[in-house]
Amino acid sequence: MHAGPRLIRATAGARPGLEPVRAQVARMHAGPRSIRTTAGARPRLESARIRLDGTPAALLLAAAALFSRTACAVDCVSAATLPDTATQGALVVGSALPGTGYEFQGHASVVGDDGVLVFGVARDAPARVEIVLRCVDGSRGARALAVTQRQYEIERVDGLPEKTVNPPAEIAERIAREQAEVAAARVRDDPRSDFKSGFAWPVHARISGVYGSQRILNGTPKDPHLALDLAAPEGTPVQAPAAGVVTLAQKDYYLTGGTVILDHGHGVSCVFIHLSQVSVTPGQVLARGDVLGAVGKTGRATGPHLHWGLNWFETRLDPELLLK
Ligand SMILES: [Zn+2]
Repeated sequence: MHAGPRLIRATAGARPGLEPVRAQVARMHAGPRSIRTTAGARPRLESARIRLDGTPAALLLAAAALFSRTACAVDCVSAATLPDTATQGALVVGSALPGTGYEFQGHASVVGDDGVLVFGVARDAPARVEIVLRCVDGSRGARALAVTQRQYEIERVDGLPEKTVNPPAEIAERIAREQAEVAAARVRDDPRSDFKSGFAWPVHARISGVYGSQRILNGTPKDPHLALDLAAPEGTPVQAPAAGVVTLAQKDYYLTGGTVILDHGHGVSCVFIHLSQVSVTPGQVLARGDVLGAVGKTGRATGPHLHWGLNWFETRLDPELLLK
């Protein structure tokens, strides 16, 4: 049985843009609420049906009493609004009944009162993936998505300082500590859904490095490049591509230099690295367009550019897909 208060909160607090979710919530919960008020008093239900016999209200009440107990469990899964296809590296935004739990690619979350269901498809996701949904009554089911497979470039970058490509052993501890701080910022699961308003370019500049490229740095094969590089001149202001809260602001990380993470809610965050200036502090709330720092070449970089990453928790996504 669904919790009544959750329905009330979701309906009352819902914004105009979430009308489909509100409608689904109202539809889904109408049945169980009818049962709750009538199941323990069947004779009264019968008399009500007789009194209202022939009216649409009586028909609806009878239908709800007959079917809602089983329909609700199944419909939590079918009520979720999700695309049938997604591209590798894409942020997927759908909707589901508040309280619906979901698991995707090893990460679990719960749909909040805003009804937003969001997740990210990894660079190497297979051609078919499933998202598992858990309804508030304990039932569960899966929805499948076809994943458009991409071809990634091979990118050779030479001339990087050797100590940044193969860091000396004494630096390993520092790098591990910094990476742990970044990872900690990415486990947040805020109820914000700033990403729903869309994203803008943080700087307007030529794309100098695309998402997914297999990287060979100074001749050594490395992890793929899981972000977008924008070749703006040093000092160019970097603007928040969407509203969010700053969860990390560091001026001097070993590999990434000036580093800012902006959390857009529900595990969605952006990272900006190689910054020459960091002009925000953790906890600060930014609107889209607010300046968070300036383009630079700090950390492991051959020249000034903005490295812009997009994440759903630890899954690295392609920011360029946000702007198409
Ligand atoms: Zn980059």
